[in-house]
Formats: sequence, structure tokens, C-alpha cells
Amino acid sequence: MNDVVLTGDRPTGPLHLGHYFGSLANRVELQDRHPMYVLIADYQVITDRDVPGEIRRHTTELLLDYLAVGIDPAKVTIFQHSAIPELNQLLLPFLSLVSVAELGRNPTVKDEIAHSSQAAVSGLMFTYPVHQAADILFCKGTLVPVGKDQVPHLEVARLVARRFNERYGAVFPLPEAMMGAQPLLKGLDGGKMSKSRGNAIALSATEDETAALIRRARTDSERMITFEEERRPEVANLLTLAGLCLGRSPRELAEEIGDGGAATLKRVVTEAVNEFLRPIRKRRAEADEAEVRQILAQGNDRARERAVRTLDEVRAAMGF
Ligand code: ATP
Ligand code: MG
Repeated sequence: MNDVVLTGDRPTGPLHLGHYFGSLANRVELQDRHPMYVLIADYQVITDRDVPGEIRRHTTELLLDYLAVGIDPAKVTIFQHSAIPELNQLLLPFLSLVSVAELGRNPTVKDEIAHSSQAAVSGLMFTYPVHQAADILFCKGTLVPVGKDQVPHLEVARLVARRFNERYGAVFPLPEAMMGAQPLLKGLDGGKMSKSRGNAIALSATEDETAALIRRARTDSERMITFEEERRPEVANLLTLAGLCLGRSPRELAEEIGDGGAATLKRVVTEAVNEFLRPIRKRRAEADEAEVRQILAQGNDRARERAVRTLDEVRAAMGF
């Protein structure tokens, strides 16, 4: 069976290296071989904040990031959540398939609630894995390139698909997560690198911004650089970052740096990241914002047509 790939990001800020090594690299790799949908999850922005904020600007920036890393809109359907009412309508039957207790057990939801800027947990935050199930299943997605934080949500999508099929007949395939080279890249503060946690190196950061961010990263007081993830997480994280950018093992880099200390380590990391981002920055500078609107309009049309077909099938299976 030929896989259908579905994945996406929330337009909450610029994409970062965590996205690249967690998901974007796999997308670029897969786009030549499979039909692929990339979702700009704009409705999901309000899961953990009160208002969507600068949603239009962030959406444009997200698309520019996609083009910069090499996602090809001629091969990939890039679309916006809010433009596809039929996708969102799947939420209704899907919500009927999961229990409140199951939703409450989701570890990623718990983590995101802990980092949320909302005063109270909204119903949308609580149910958003089900929304994500609709994102994946609307196009009968089977392969989902995501970071580790998304694995519990994939489980919900599989559960929804399985229960729907049991109750109403075989409509949905069971999707699978596809992890990247680094399923959980840590940010410069040691927590998950996230757009909204102020700890990320954005793909669109300038050389100077990148250098400044790495200069501020925490290390420790030992001069000898070693790769010990448990004992020296900050140093290990920087080595991991450089290793990913250079395509080399972090342990080997540590041996080379040896007693060069934190200063040498940070110089190596800065050079590695800047070198890696150079072609991405160059392509980003060449991208055209008018083209972005065109890409979205076409992607939305294609995705909507797919969603209409699935919703028809769902309603028929349910006997409406
Ligand atoms: P936000 O802080 O607004 O939630 P985010 O940085 O978590 O932003 P998302 O848009 O929520 O980014 O996630 C998009 C995709 O990128 C998901 O598949 C997610 O698993 C992956 N991803 C995000 N951060 C990382 C990371 N640090 N390492 C690996 N993959 C990541
Ligand atoms: Mg997130």
C-alpha cells in the first residue's frame, strides 16, 4: 500500500532546529515518494492561549520556512485548518469515540497544560488530540512524521480509527508515527525546544542572533568537554546540536574539543549551526510572499476536496 503522509505545525512562531531534525527533514525526504499533506494548524493556536495573536503573519512565516527547507508545493498539499470546515466536522463523531478518562491520561496534554499561558484549561486544550486525529484521518493519512511529543496523540488517532471502524465499518487506516533523527531536541534551557518557550534556535535566525543565543546557553564549570547525557546535560545538548548539524557523532566532537572548555565548545556549535542554516537562510531570502498566498489557496482547495469525500463516507457509514 502506498502511504499517505500527513503532518503539520502550529503557526505560533518561527520553525526551529527541533522541527528540522524532528520532522521537516523526513518530509523533504518523503515528498518525492508519497502523496503528502502539510497542515498549518491555525485553529490549534487557541488550545493554549486565549487569542490567535498574529496569526496571518505567523502563517506566512511558516510557509516561508517550509519553502526554505525544501518542501515543494508542487508535490505537497499545504493547507490551513480554518479553511477546511469538513475536516473540523469530523471532530463531532470522533469525540463520541473517546472517554473523558482517556483524554485526561494523555501525557503531552498534561505537559502542555503545565506550559500553557491560559488561566484555566479549556475544553479545546483537553480535546485537542482528537482534533489531531481528525487532521490525520481526514486524508486517510498512514504515515505521520512527528517529534516524540506527538506519539501519545498518534495513539489517540489510532484509537479513534479503530473504534470508528469497529462501530461503523472499515473506513480508516491506522496511522503510524515516523520519528526523525532527533525525536526530542532540547532547547538552550534544557527543556523541549519549543517555539513558545523562548529556548529555540529558529531556522530564520541570523548568524549574529544564533551566536548570541548559543553564547547564553548554560554549560558547567568543568574544562574538559565530554559527552555525558545524564551527568552533564547542558554540554551534551550542545554537542548533540553540533553533531546533528555536522552529521557527526557528539562523542567524537567532544574528544576533539577536549580541554578547550566551554568557549571552544560554543564556537564549534555556533559554526556548525550557522554553516547548516546558510543554504536554508539563502532560500528563505529568495522566497516571495505573493507566491505564499497562491500556494495556500491551491492547497486549501485540494485539501477541502479530500475532506468532503471523507466526510461523505463517514456520514454514509454512520447511516446519516
Ligand atoms: P509550540 O511551542 O507553539 O507548541 P512547538 O515548537 O512545540 O510549538 P509544534 O508546532 O507544536 O511546535 O510542533 C510541530 C511539529 O514539530 C510536531 O511534529 C512536533 O512533534 C515537532 N517538534 C516540535 N518541537 C520539537 C523538538 N524539540 N524536537 C523534535 N520535534 C519537535
Ligand atoms: Mg507544540
